[in-house]
Amino acid sequence: MPLATLADMPGPERAGRVKRVSILGSTGSIGCNTVDLLQRNPQAYEVVALTANRDVAALARQARSLQAEVAVIADDSLYPALKEALAGSGVEAAAGKGALDEAAARPCDWLMAAIIGYAGLGPTLAAIRQGHVVALANKESLVCAGDLFMNEARHHGARLLPVDSEHNAIYQVLDFDRPERIERITLTASGGPFRTLRREAMARVTPEQAVAHPNWRMGAKISVDSATMMNKGLEVIEAYHLFPVEVEQLDILVHPQSVIHSMVSYVDGSVLAQLGSPDMRTPIAYTLAWPDRIDTPAERLDLARLGQLTFEAPDEERFPALALARRALREGGSVPVVLNAANEEAVAAFLAGSIGFLNIAEIVARSLDAFSPGAPDSLEDVAEIDRQARRVAQDFIAAGK
Ligand code: NDP
Repeated sequence: MPLATLADMPGPERAGRVKRVSILGSTGSIGCNTVDLLQRNPQAYEVVALTANRDVAALARQARSLQAEVAVIADDSLYPALKEALAGSGVEAAAGKGALDEAAARPCDWLMAAIIGYAGLGPTLAAIRQGHVVALANKESLVCAGDLFMNEARHHGARLLPVDSEHNAIYQVLDFDRPERIERITLTASGGPFRTLRREAMARVTPEQAVAHPNWRMGAKISVDSATMMNKGLEVIEAYHLFPVEVEQLDILVHPQSVIHSMVSYVDGSVLAQLGSPDMRTPIAYTLAWPDRIDTPAERLDLARLGQLTFEAPDEERFPALALARRALREGGSVPVVLNAANEEAVAAFLAGSIGFLNIAEIVARSLDAFSPGAPDSLEDVAEIDRQARRVAQDFIAAGK
């Protein structure tokens, strides 16, 4: 069992006043859904910081509309463009990685961590070190830095609220006071766009087909992760760090309708689940209002109209990423860092048209085999292993061309 989980974190404080909020990755899919919720109830929130990587136009539009204190663009070559786009708005413009960390550390009541990938680790940690309430969408932070990340959160008194719909569901139904009464946690998985596709046919799928998720509209990287089912593998690692259970207590169940978002089974045979239409505004709103609840425009669940919910076991032969992620979790140490780095590189190469869909898991597998670094003792170690693993994966990608 991990050393620190959500069971060790502080409770809520200060309800019922204007909330000061920040969004890291505000221009992405999670970020835009969060902005949508803020715009529906503007008098309830004051926006401190919004950040993006390169999308100056969207960032400036959001910052003007929400009257943010500061807007940060990670790519510092775009600082002049952001400054110009914000001229006369009263919103401060900033750029670069240091500015991102500084914005994440600004005092606020709630912060959404929704940068994609390993790039989110540093700014999310900067927020955690201020003891913020952090709504955590950036699962890659936990995959790469698991124990170190959770220990930092505990040490600084930060409160993590999981945004991933599965982990948010578990958070809502898990009895943190009696972890010994939990038998299993079942993460549901839609199965992605290729759930029923034969493996031979998967070899020919295009990036456009891979990002066309049947139930969720998400950013390109997580959509490809859903198609390979690496996303579910990353989520198993995420769940292991968030919840007080052992690796063997974490199951995956394919549920194509994405209505049951996950379940917790208890020793008396009870199974508690959280259900809802597949709309990320529901879990985001849960974290935004926590421990209260707020209204969202998410479509209400109509089970009679749906008629039936179906389930099947995951197929680890057609989706080898599942076993790779389990291997990384079992072996621990630096192996999850390598898994994540190789996957990010392979997904980027697939989206760029450089490799085929099936090569993604192959490159991750070969990177895991090629790599035997020791366990990271510090976040600097994690950064170094991430760098090395990316180079190894890039070599495999180049060799495969
Ligand atoms: P998107 O790709 O849609 O958005 C990513 C955001 O991060 C954008 O604001 C982007 O800016 C910014 N960004 C990208 N690269 C960098 C960088 N190097 N430095 C700083 N900022 C950067 O991602 P999603 O919203 O889909 O996913 C965000 C996180 O949430 C991921 O960790 C994902 O796994 C998780 N998640 C997402 C779900 C979803 O429904 N989308 C569901 C559950 C979890 P720009 O727009 O300028 O590129």
